[in-house]
Amino acid sequence: MHALPFTAEPSSTDTVERDSTAGDVSGLPSPASGAHRAPCDFDVIIAGCGPTGAMLAAELRLHQVRVLVLERETEPVSFVRIVGLHIRSIELMAMRGLLERIRERGRQRPAGAYFAGIDKPAPAGLDSRYAYLLGIPQPVIVQLLEEHAIELGAQIRRGCAVAGFVQDDDGVTVELADGEQLRTRYLVGCDGARSTVRKLLGVGFPGEPARTETLMGEMSVGVPQEEVAAKLAEVGETNRQFQLRPFGPGVYSVVVPAAGISDRAEPPTLEDFAQQLRAIVGTDFGVHSPRWLSRFGDATRLAERYRVGRVLLAGDAAHIHPPAGGQGLNLGVQDAVNLGWKLAAQIRGWAPETLLDTYQTERHPVAEEVLENTRVQVELFSTEPGPRAVRRLLAELMDFDEVNRYLLEKITAIGVRYDFGEGPDLLGRRLHDIDLKQGNLYGLLHRGRGLLLDRTERLTVGGWTDRVDQLADPTAALDVPCVLLRPDGHVAWIGDDQQDLDDHLSRWFGKPN
Ligand SMILES: Cc1cc2nc3c(=O)[nH]c(=O)nc-3n(C[C@H](O)[C@H](O)[C@H](O)COP(=O)(O)OP(=O)(O)OC[C@H]3O[C@@H](n4cnc5c(N)ncnc54)[C@H](O)[C@@H]3O)c2cc1C
Repeated sequence: MHALPFTAEPSSTDTVERDSTAGDVSGLPSPASGAHRAPCDFDVIIAGCGPTGAMLAAELRLHQVRVLVLERETEPVSFVRIVGLHIRSIELMAMRGLLERIRERGRQRPAGAYFAGIDKPAPAGLDSRYAYLLGIPQPVIVQLLEEHAIELGAQIRRGCAVAGFVQDDDGVTVELADGEQLRTRYLVGCDGARSTVRKLLGVGFPGEPARTETLMGEMSVGVPQEEVAAKLAEVGETNRQFQLRPFGPGVYSVVVPAAGISDRAEPPTLEDFAQQLRAIVGTDFGVHSPRWLSRFGDATRLAERYRVGRVLLAGDAAHIHPPAGGQGLNLGVQDAVNLGWKLAAQIRGWAPETLLDTYQTERHPVAEEVLENTRVQVELFSTEPGPRAVRRLLAELMDFDEVNRYLLEKITAIGVRYDFGEGPDLLGRRLHDIDLKQGNLYGLLHRGRGLLLDRTERLTVGGWTDRVDQLADPTAALDVPCVLLRPDGHVAWIGDDQQDLDDHLSRWFGKPN
């Protein structure tokens, strides 16, 4: 399959739309602005139905955007890659009314001990009522997010790989592997680390190639659990390059280095795992009956751009890094929540001119920061004397609450602060959930709209009521008079002056009606 020729893209500001028909959800094609072009079948096509693609589809549907997700695989993948959702992602699930159903399928664990696996409890008094890790396998998260997106009206087609596209002033023509062509106003590549969309777009993906490969799988052991635990305690002290985590009665998640093992192009075998365990631990624990086996590398790369005209990148398509700290899926879901409302605003025609570009200016530095902290963690996992000494020192430093808190806020993403210009420290940060006179704050964000939380009972969102809700609550536990929240829960404005509020409503939510 050859890619369709990729045409020179319009500059990002050229593509701002003022199409008031975009809110039509009848399922009929929107009128294309260029008469020579085929009308668009969809507002947004998302390539890839992993966690990022599924979350983005749901976010777009909150704003009635006509969205199609194209997924290459015919069946959901069963690899259990992830330890869980960190605090900010749990908060996002609460903000979208998804937390209860996700919590039913996961296990609450303490939030601490995720920075390079240094075993310290989470600091006291974390700034979140969801201060825990929600252990839940990746396939379950994807299934729940996919169900949520479908409930909201997203279409998902499996067994459809995006193979090419061409963009023009009015939209993008997407070609599937079987030659079918679909027309959309925007295309988002959520198609993972080897993203076809990113490659076709020609966006650079600089960084470091994989230095080491690791095997990961889930399998049964042929010895009692106590025997495994005793051996791990003995060997784990000096060798951190393998892991065995219990995953059910007699079943373990096994991680071992792939160095010197089989052909990289071939899928790993059970014997590969057994051989590595014998070499490192001295026994293979009689492993048998694998549920799945996989291999991953520690490449670290970041896309140079997240947007080229009408085509955007999110999740692993935009950034990859070793799984230290368990951040990749969380980062992708958070990309999706940042992008969803902005792209929806663009399509519905009310986006301020530079809003869509703030996706890159806000999220690119966050990914850069995650790449940086995973580089640090990889060094700290080394068993060389130098890194081991640094690890011991850092473990001592983490006994200071401030250090421990700083690192935990990094891993869990509750420390993220977008640059919205000069202002109080809260500006640009996410607001934690608080009790209100009726219910709680995150309960008011389920629809993905902006929110004015007003303790003065004097202010109004006036001409923006179709995009922004408001609640006057003098009892709200805030130490500022009023806050304006974006749909992603970040603080866009703090103050008590109506004119200043109106200016900021225009900045984030466009012209009033
Ligand atoms: C061993 C390991 C452990 C990890 N542990 C954690 C953890 O604990 N916590 C955490 O947050 N993250 C973890 N991660 C990272 C996490 O798995 C990824 O960051 C996450 O899967 C990224 O989600 P995504 O939706 O962006 O991409 P993916 O999950 O890769 O999904 C991309 C989807 O696109 C599809 N696709 C690909 N090409 C095409 C195409 N051309 N057309 C249509 N569809 C296409 C694929 O089939 C796939 O379904 C781990 C990763 C590994 C390898």
